[in-house]
Amino acid sequence: MPTIGKIVIAGAGQAGGRAAEALRSAGFRGAITVIGEENHPPYERPQLSKELLATLDTPVSYLKPARDWSDVLDVTMITGAAVVACDAGRQTVATGDGRIFDYDRLLLATGTQPRRINTLGGTGARVHYLRNIEDAMQLRQSFHRQARVVIVGGGVIGLEAACAAAKHGCDVTVVESQQRLLARAFPGLVSEVVEARHRSHGVRFAFGVTVVEGTADGVRLTDGTALKADIILVGIGVDPSSAVARDLGLSADAGIEVDGFGRTAAPNVFSAGDVSLQWSKCHDRAIRVETWANAQNQAICVAGNMIGTGREYGDPPWFWSDQYDLNIQVVGDMLNADHIVRGDAGSDRFSVAAMRGGEIVGAISINAAKDMAMFRRLVARQSRLNRSDIESTAYDLRKALIIN
Ligand code: NDP
Repeated sequence: MPTIGKIVIAGAGQAGGRAAEALRSAGFRGAITVIGEENHPPYERPQLSKELLATLDTPVSYLKPARDWSDVLDVTMITGAAVVACDAGRQTVATGDGRIFDYDRLLLATGTQPRRINTLGGTGARVHYLRNIEDAMQLRQSFHRQARVVIVGGGVIGLEAACAAAKHGCDVTVVESQQRLLARAFPGLVSEVVEARHRSHGVRFAFGVTVVEGTADGVRLTDGTALKADIILVGIGVDPSSAVARDLGLSADAGIEVDGFGRTAAPNVFSAGDVSLQWSKCHDRAIRVETWANAQNQAICVAGNMIGTGREYGDPPWFWSDQYDLNIQVVGDMLNADHIVRGDAGSDRFSVAAMRGGEIVGAISINAAKDMAMFRRLVARQSRLNRSDIESTAYDLRKALIIN
């Protein structure tokens, strides 16, 4: 293998940061440059919709103190400068402020950006998106008792923010275009439990509608309803920040396609994190995995592959969400599958497993972290389980791991 002297990582989010760390841990001694658009060194995003919305004085938690990148890891961390162009022939990237960096290996870890609603311009309410530290601070500062908050999108951002806003005494309405919450990730009975918990904290819902436009004092919905709002938060999903990949001849609209090793179709170019489009065994198709766990573990694996480890990544997607006293964890694919309930679905503690063709391809747990620890391993192995064993809480799922 030719000597690798310089590695450039485009994107200084969690994936970019973890990849840089992993390169050093794996013994790479060449130059590492991490380039990020935000004015912050790498940090993990779950705090944005959780701790940072909870209190005004919560400190931001970073992957490591800013100086450690240079002083301990000998990594050049460039913040406040986006990579705006790549040149596959010369093996260079360019930043918006005109700097050029050459690479022997390039990692594209550019993440995602929130989808926007462009018709809110005329509203008298303050419009928020939630993707970075500044967004979280501004949103937190605007929450106050009896503030009228309209949240567009009943996904993970919308629901975690609704939870925080309700705790701050705001008057919250969630507008969700589907007929139920998190319809792409949750089975119906879990959506119902989550909705009921929000309603018990005073949150209202408008399903099957969206926002048409901003009005002087709020928003108008597709069914003609006018909602008054002081604050509007839009959380309607994200799009990959993959424009520079086109410079490398990669099709990138749905994300940057990678193989199991994180290699793109461009020579010496890899991708990891939210932006990468990777094969998911349990989904049986390529998907982008927008989770904390993927930003860490896929990035670490791909970093190793950039310097020759040769390890395939195949962790099933897993994420968690904390809402009030509900800890919700989801692994694998819950769609197009038979759902088998473990425990009492009417209670605050149960799980639902997803089976397809006799194999377990996904699971979701409500306050059942021990079950989830087993389900994550069973889904990773696509284990075959008996329906009756899953249903019986007396059955120890560890036994299934031994059999499989
Ligand atoms: P999600 O995809 O989770 O949810 C967006 C929701 O909004 C979906 O239900 C979507 O329906 C709905 N929607 C889409 N368009 C409209 C519209 N015009 N009007 C009303 N509803 C609409 O995205 P989020 O924005 O909540 O989250 C963004 C990212 O942040 C994701 O990558 C997520 O994984 C990540 N995140 C993860 C957290 C965690 O793991 N706990 C916490 C917070 C964020 P449809 O599906 O039909 O498009």
